Amino acid sequence: MTGCVGGIIGLQLFWNYQNYERTKATFSHDTNESLSRAVGRERAERHGLLVGQVKRWLADTSFIRITCDINPRYNVTVFHINDRYPKFKGSLGESFSLENFKPKLKQITPEAKRFLIEHFAEKTVRADLQKGYIYYYTQRLGDSLTVAFRKSRVRLYRLQAIYQSELAAKGIQTPFRLNPTSPEEAPFLTRSVNTTLRPLTDNQFVRAGFESPDAYFLRTMRWLILSTFGLILVSLICFGYTVKTLLSQHKLVALKDDFINNMTHELNTPLTSIQITAEALKTFDHSPQTQREYLDIITYQTGKLIDLAAQILGANRQLNKSVDKCGVVDLDELVQKAIRELSHRMTGRPVQVSYHPGGVPLRVQGDELSLANVLGNLIDNALKYTLDEVSIRIETTARDRQAEIVVADNGIGIPAEYRKRVFEPFFRVPKGSQHDVKGYGLGLSYVRQVLQRHGGSIRVEANQPAGSVFTLTLPRL
Ligand code: ADP
Repeated sequence: MTGCVGGIIGLQLFWNYQNYERTKATFSHDTNESLSRAVGRERAERHGLLVGQVKRWLADTSFIRITCDINPRYNVTVFHINDRYPKFKGSLGESFSLENFKPKLKQITPEAKRFLIEHFAEKTVRADLQKGYIYYYTQRLGDSLTVAFRKSRVRLYRLQAIYQSELAAKGIQTPFRLNPTSPEEAPFLTRSVNTTLRPLTDNQFVRAGFESPDAYFLRTMRWLILSTFGLILVSLICFGYTVKTLLSQHKLVALKDDFINNMTHELNTPLTSIQITAEALKTFDHSPQTQREYLDIITYQTGKLIDLAAQILGANRQLNKSVDKCGVVDLDELVQKAIRELSHRMTGRPVQVSYHPGGVPLRVQGDELSLANVLGNLIDNALKYTLDEVSIRIETTARDRQAEIVVADNGIGIPAEYRKRVFEPFFRVPKGSQHDVKGYGLGLSYVRQVLQRHGGSIRVEANQPAGSVFTLTLPRL
């Protein structure tokens, strides 16, 4: 799965990178090509202006004289263009016929003159200009046109507008500058294009500068990039979720195995104890005192089994009936009883219990058996999780409307990060350096459940110098 997700992410990134490179190349190509086209269009506009000027000169009778006659050999109208005031004596003008001019005229008419000017300027002169040279049809016309031609310079404001429209046609809306002065204002530059009307003899270069193509890329590919990262994010979330589910499944299986192992132990111990005690009662004739002790053991172990069953079933059946309908429980008596029952536990280790009653009678409304199980569980844990000599301190205190019971031990303690989690069902502090204690992680969750049903709560803190302090609160009567 990791390989698969990694592959998808890698491919997405690679694809985006390629896209980026391609967009950059296209951007460079399009901006250069558009500039060449724009310069061409602007130059054609200037040709148009010169052609217009030529038309005005031709129409100006004080400058040019246009006449015509008929060539007898070919029987066509021949036009003559001459300077009104020739520069040099004897300098010749231009004579030519027009193929698509059919009338035969000995004398020029206004229509024929208009036709000639239009035709001559638009076709002949424009073709010359486009080739980049001036043909001297008459000396003065040639001179004037040469001056105008040489003076003609690129009109940057026009080029700007034309270039903008060329770029827009290619879908590029990026702002640009013509002939930027510093690279800071436009880091991406196009090639230089010659704008002069005489490219072979004259140079007037123009180039365009753009902001970095990265910005253009980010703008144009914004949605693609966002959707790519969105997809990657969704893949990662799904992946994370799947891994989390797998891990928790794995943990659950381990918990189940652990639970079954420990449960076998938890069930066997009281059952064996009951069996041995019952056998002993049956086999030998004991004094009433010993018999009562044996019966106490049996009652205690049976209680433990009932407690266990209640814990496993998740909810204490007796708690199903409302706490209000239960009786009144004297906490002092409850603690004393729990301490008495402690003597039935076969720990084989010295156990020291100190009890510090609060001095005032503490009574709560609730189910006595469940509350006894709560204390039993805490004392059991104190015994289970203390390695050597066990020292348990129990205190009861009255705080306003609350009764507080403290059960402190000198055991292995609970690391701070697990202090909240120990009340979760099936949670056990990871073994690590701790010794292997049997259990199934249900005791404290049961304790919390019982207390919550009674409107109380439980918390755990570290004891000094070692161990844990469990503090229970219950609403007092
Ligand atoms: P169990 O004892 O069956 O594992 P519990 O719900 O009673 O389950 O306790 C949950 C976990 O809390 C235990 O596994 C243990 O790691 C830790 N714990 C409970 N009580 C104590 C205590 N008095 N001292 C140290 N650790 C404790």
